[in-house]
Amino acid sequence: MSGDAPEDSITPTGIRQAGPRTLAIAWADGTESRYDVRALRLACGCAHCVDEWTGEGRLDPSSVPEDVRPVRIDPVGRYAIQIEWSDGHASGIYPFRRLRELG
Ligand SMILES: [Zn+2]
Repeated sequence: MSGDAPEDSITPTGIRQAGPRTLAIAWADGTESRYDVRALRLACGCAHCVDEWTGEGRLDPSSVPEDVRPVRIDPVGRYAIQIEWSDGHASGIYPFRRLRELG
């Protein structure tokens, strides 16, 4: 009964804070990806952080606090999560496919 279900490799089964600086995502294919939370913040692909036309990063890494962390994680449909960060940035959407590549 898979129907329109996405591939197991980009279907998360769980997201947890694995440590103060580490976010872990478990995938339906049985693997787990771990991310440094600040690296994830810097990898934000939203229009504020990346130029939509050139794809160039507009985010100054020095503007992101060393201790930045997710304060809230919301699912966006079945393909992405939206992360609200402790630095106030909340427009970043992280598609699972991209997260899989980053991990
Ligand atoms: Zn952003």
